[in-house]
Amino acid sequence: MTDALYIHLPFCARKCLYCDFLSVPFSAARAEQYVVAVCTELSMKKKLFESLSTLYIGGGTPTLLGLERLVRLFRCLRDTCGLSPDTEITLEANPGTVSSDLLDALRSLGVNRLSIGVQSFQDSELKVLGRIHNSAEAACAIAEASASGFSNISLDLMYGIPGQTMASWKDTLSQAVSLGPTHISAYELTPEKETPLFGMLSSGKLSLPHEDLVLDMYGFAIDFLGEHGYRHYEISNFARPGRECRHNLNYWDRGDYAGVGAGAHSFVNGIRAYNSSDLEHYIEELHFRCLPQKEEQALTRAEASREHIFLGLRKTEGILMTSPVFSVFHLHEAASGLLEKGYLKTCGEYLSLTRRGLVVSNMVIGKLLDNLGL
Ligand code: SF4
Repeated sequence: MTDALYIHLPFCARKCLYCDFLSVPFSAARAEQYVVAVCTELSMKKKLFESLSTLYIGGGTPTLLGLERLVRLFRCLRDTCGLSPDTEITLEANPGTVSSDLLDALRSLGVNRLSIGVQSFQDSELKVLGRIHNSAEAACAIAEASASGFSNISLDLMYGIPGQTMASWKDTLSQAVSLGPTHISAYELTPEKETPLFGMLSSGKLSLPHEDLVLDMYGFAIDFLGEHGYRHYEISNFARPGRECRHNLNYWDRGDYAGVGAGAHSFVNGIRAYNSSDLEHYIEELHFRCLPQKEEQALTRAEASREHIFLGLRKTEGILMTSPVFSVFHLHEAASGLLEKGYLKTCGEYLSLTRRGLVVSNMVIGKLLDNLGL
């Protein structure tokens, strides 16, 4: 049983130039078949769900699905999953695909948290990223969401964009804060192979900002958002008190969750499972009421401990060293060099990254895992 559910809706109006997520161009016919498949999967997994604490609908661009299909999806969710007024229901929204009517309707369906993919408030940067909206549309979508009654709004921002300067990043952060979101995610752009952006960088058509500047941008975000009342609770995430994302916290805590939709992952009772990421295959299998899902073997104790460390250390609170998960490891001993160098710190029984360690978190976590032989 799990009280956390993720649903993947993979349709987008146009592929952003940096995107390597599972997303396909929107087609009404395909979206129709997809919703039927998702509802079939939900009903087949019904026994897995207890009253949900968190439901996260991501993509793709869920707001592109169209209201009528979203209404059907929510009807099906209410029949299968036990939604309650306490369930945190997040829906990802692209500023280029929302209207007041749609936002009002989402509120009445029970969506109580919007995650809006803004990325930047600079039109030139949005163009480099291949986003379908401009900065004015993003600001308008946020204002409309507030007017529709959304009091829990998260904004995704990006730093390290080709052409971005410290001044433009400061301006993006300050515009974001002035719009009053409860949560801000600030991600470094990491160009993935196979994306058009990667090709443009490789050919020299574009170039990334210098890595020292990128580190400074991250440092500035930590300071600026902290000064404006956003608690830095995870490497890339900042929230007003009590507005931390329940769905993501559960993931970093290695809580159980079910995934529904093409390419969605699940983690229930220590077993990871993956849905087919081939959309046609996903739809076809569910047409015959077969779950298009592959299970992995249960993790060994060492693999589980490794996950606890690399996920748990993402949170600024860190990991509980006295947790039974680490009982066979000499965690404090393995961390001693990193503690001495100021990359890690202890607070009571918790081990966490310092400000210095946060900036180079991959290196620090990798080194700690090496020291533990994990
Ligand atoms: S909107 Fe999101 S999922 Fe869709 S193409 Fe852009 S980055 Fe990818």
